[in-house]
Amino acid sequence: MSDCLFCKIVAGVIPSEKVFENDKVLGFKDITPQAKVHALFIHKEHSRDINELVNDDPQQVTAIFEAINQYSRDQGLDNEGFRTVTNCGAKAGQSVFHTHFHVLSGSSFGNFGKI
Ligand code: 5GP
Ligand code: ZN
Repeated sequence: MSDCLFCKIVAGVIPSEKVFENDKVLGFKDITPQAKVHALFIHKEHSRDINELVNDDPQQVTAIFEAINQYSRDQGLDNEGFRTVTNCGAKAGQSVFHTHFHVLSGSSFGNFGKI
C-alpha cells in the first residue's frame, strides 16, 4: 500500500469517522475540526492534489461533488450553508498529499473568498 495517510484511511488501516461512502468516494470527519461541521471528501484513488487529479481523471471531481451534494442535502447543510476548500500545494496550506475537499458548516466564516 502506498505510504499515504488518506489511502490508509480508505483501506481501513487507520480508523476514521465516516460520514459518507460509495464505491468511489469517502467522506470522514476531520481530526482537528475548524468548524462545527468539518468533513473531508476524497476519491478512493490516490492523486497528490487537485491539479494532478484533474490531469489524470477529471470525472473524479464530479464524483466527489456528487457525494458532497448528497451529504449536504442529507445533513441539511444546504439550508445552513457550507463551504468547500481544497488546498493545492504546501504553500497554499496543503499538509496531506492525497486530494481532499474540506466541507465546513455551522460556524461563521470570515470574508475570505468574497469579492
Ligand atoms: P490540508 O491541510 O492538507 O488542507 O488538510 C488536511 C486535513 O487533514 C487537516 O485539516 C487535518 O486536520 C486532517 N487530518 C490530518 N491527519 C488526519 C487523520 O489522521 N485523520 C483525519 N480524520 N484527519 C486528519
Ligand atoms: Zn493516497
